[in-house]
Amino acid sequence: MDWVDFSRSNPPLEAMDQVHTPRTVIRLPRVILLAYFDRLPCKELKLTRSNVFERDKDTCQYCGQVFAREDLNLDHVIPRDQGGKTTWENIVCSCIRCNSKKANRLPHQAQMRLIRKPVRPKWRPVISLVLGNQERERWKDFLDLAYWNVELED
Ligand SMILES: [Zn+2]
Repeated sequence: MDWVDFSRSNPPLEAMDQVHTPRTVIRLPRVILLAYFDRLPCKELKLTRSNVFERDKDTCQYCGQVFAREDLNLDHVIPRDQGGKTTWENIVCSCIRCNSKKANRLPHQAQMRLIRKPVRPKWRPVISLVLGNQERERWKDFLDLAYWNVELED
């Protein structure tokens, strides 16, 4: 059965659910199934202060305690003057105490250890749709489900 036959045997109840052609009435689909897709459009996460805090969950990466953001610094694991770059792999959240204890040294020189290896976060899928009118509002549950359940890839 194709969609036209389906529309004939299941006439839409509301005017907003249908489109008229010269010969017939077709139901507007409520959900469009993507049978094949490569991946959702992705956006590279920018290296920003708040994104680093978010990645590290406001947790000092040396002592493992959670702090308010105003009590956290960003620390270059390899200090800049020793060639450390400002990258996802070399920037971590650090509390002020750990930050001043470590000072301008490598972690092991300060007898400190990172609680986990800093990595670039996975890319995020971005769904940008204007769900303005009522028609699109009906897609929202479906889109939310796809957003939360899609397997994230690099
Ligand atoms: Zn700390």
